[in-house]
Amino acid sequence: MEWCQSIPKVELHAHLNGSIRDSTLLELARDLGETGVLVFSDFEHVILKSDRSLVEVFKLFDLIHMVTTDHTTISRITREVIEDFASENVVYIELRTTPKKNKLIGMSKRSYMEAVVEGLKSINSVDVAFMPHDVDTHSPLNSLSIDNNCNVTPRKRIYVRLLLSIDRRETTEDAMETVKLALELKDVGVVGIDLSGNPIVGEWTTFWPALQFAKENGLAITLHCGEVPNPKEIQAMLDFWPQRIGHACFFEGDNWEKLKHLNIPVEICLTSNIRTNSISSLDVHHFAYLLIFCDQKLESPL
Ligand SMILES: [Zn+2]
Repeated sequence: MEWCQSIPKVELHAHLNGSIRDSTLLELARDLGETGVLVFSDFEHVILKSDRSLVEVFKLFDLIHMVTTDHTTISRITREVIEDFASENVVYIELRTTPKKNKLIGMSKRSYMEAVVEGLKSINSVDVAFMPHDVDTHSPLNSLSIDNNCNVTPRKRIYVRLLLSIDRRETTEDAMETVKLALELKDVGVVGIDLSGNPIVGEWTTFWPALQFAKENGLAITLHCGEVPNPKEIQAMLDFWPQRIGHACFFEGDNWEKLKHLNIPVEICLTSNIRTNSISSLDVHHFAYLLIFCDQKLESPL
């Protein structure tokens, strides 16, 4: 674990809401419990449990949905999540989040994202480069920290890029709004669109127009694909030819052939797949299959 934490890492599949500190989640849930919005004890054990089934994971996401309804909280969790990844020596992260809107509390998709950006700006413990032009503006002097004894050390830096997620519960119009927002926010590090959420909810065809519009306008696309057995959807997603897909737990023969033919990289999290019981054990995980395929390609590029 020490070695894993010490090496510099690239994180390409981190959900903002899926990376909230347990301590923060407990604090926010307890506050909501006191106001009578929820029964704290119903959620406490799910928060503290390390092996959650996929059903429990989505119960937890329902809770997270309830506690992330104000801009201050969005900024706080963004700050904490980036600080936590930086402390584990992640040097580049693509953080994905679903911009939410709620007229009752004056939140629009745009103001939600502004709160995320505020969170990034508020980080002091590490040098956060999140705007595309940051590479040029960060002079070496800005990257040095000087302690009370005048010892100069390089400051830790993390590059952050944002992916805006479309939730599978959303409508075509919601999805389109998210894509247009992503295009408007390229200057603050938004680089792509993700499709995520409960895989048994929603239809691929609902999101296709927005995803196609994103593609035509130069946004990169990553899709949660094959989280549950759904051959028709898997095939349609691969035909769309996204830049990346996530998980691929329930792929079958033809799907693998197409994936390899189109050269689509797969974002894989072994721990997530095992803990949610999507894959029964590591020795049958598709990671080994894909790794062998990659090795063969490297050996004979033709
Ligand atoms: Zn995911």
